[in-house]
Amino acid sequence: MFIVEPIACLRDNYAYWLTCSETGVSALVDPSEADPVLASASAHGRTPSFVLCTHHHLDHVGGIPGIAARFSDIKVIGSSYDKGRIDGQTETVTDGDQFTVGGISVEVMLVPGHTLGAIAFVARAGGKTAVFTGDTMFLAGCGRLFEGTPADMHKSLQRIVALPADTQIYCGHEYTADNLRFAASLEPSNEAITRAIAKTADIRSRGLPTVPHSVTEERAINPFVRVQFAELRHNLALGAEASDVEVLGAAREAKDNFR
Ligand SMILES: [Zn+2]
Repeated sequence: MFIVEPIACLRDNYAYWLTCSETGVSALVDPSEADPVLASASAHGRTPSFVLCTHHHLDHVGGIPGIAARFSDIKVIGSSYDKGRIDGQTETVTDGDQFTVGGISVEVMLVPGHTLGAIAFVARAGGKTAVFTGDTMFLAGCGRLFEGTPADMHKSLQRIVALPADTQIYCGHEYTADNLRFAASLEPSNEAITRAIAKTADIRSRGLPTVPHSVTEERAINPFVRVQFAELRHNLALGAEASDVEVLGAAREAKDNFR
């Protein structure tokens, strides 16, 4: 089995511990900054063996030099596309590559869109699946298209939601409340979104993270994976004839301008 624990970093970033419960072997996902991660390592008595980088942006990899200075044997795994873009990267991986963190099997999924080198890490052990999506998929949202196209993002999101229904999704930022406000503007009659807004407000009022959601939850609320639905299309001024990619592009543009 495995345990996943978020570490709050910067303003609204999450780094994560991914730890094998049998062996105690740990990986750190997306360490934005070193200080909170090193403090958490001391508090939990953990020695990370790996850093898993979803993409090269500084608010995901900025902590690596400080962490590598403390744990010198650490392997830093990032996309082959990001070679030269991640300070401290020691290993390059690409779509379909697999490795283990103790007894956890980890598979690399190339998910371009937010960046072209973006990868998701799919962790499996004891019949459980979790996916670390970085800034490609957020709870109830997706990342901005800095390098990729709407077609890239559509394909990437569809790959993520094709994982088993109970897969737990861990993303790079706490954007859930804002994302749900946007989702509700596109699908005001979607009751799953209304319920998610109430649940999110309750969780945030207690200062807790909203991660994770399951694939099933995201399929019910995330506008960027719900591009086929009529109400959402109608509110983007698109009809049944528009392609799913066109709808995703229009939704992303609307979100970029949503206040
Ligand atoms: Zn990013």
